[in-house]
Amino acid sequence: MVVQYRNEISHQLARRRTLRQFHAGLVRKETICDAEFILVTASKYHGEQAAYPCPVCGSDELRVVLWVYGDEIGKAAGSARSEEEIEQLVKDGHQATVHTVEVCSHCKWNHLLKAQTATAS
Ligand SMILES: [Zn+2]
Repeated sequence: MVVQYRNEISHQLARRRTLRQFHAGLVRKETICDAEFILVTASKYHGEQAAYPCPVCGSDELRVVLWVYGDEIGKAAGSARSEEEIEQLVKDGHQATVHTVEVCSHCKWNHLLKAQTATAS
């Protein structure tokens, strides 16, 4: 079984806008580097290293983590999951919303990259 992703909403535009404002000195670092402890921890255990450095501090500790939401996946809603776990969650015909989030454990930068709906194919 393969997880089917649809309804993709990209947040790249908002991400670029935020970074542009930051580099122009219009937004303070504390405002955009505010990842909560649980998000940083989840990215370490469930995330994968990004193919590029952190856009704020240049650290290689930038990770991409999948965060799941939805009424149909019960207690798993609101937690970080691996691709394999998402496959398990949707295999009984359930639907989940998956947020792809990048998180830097060095400076705490975090931003939503995209949102998608996951179902079993
Ligand atoms: Zn960083």
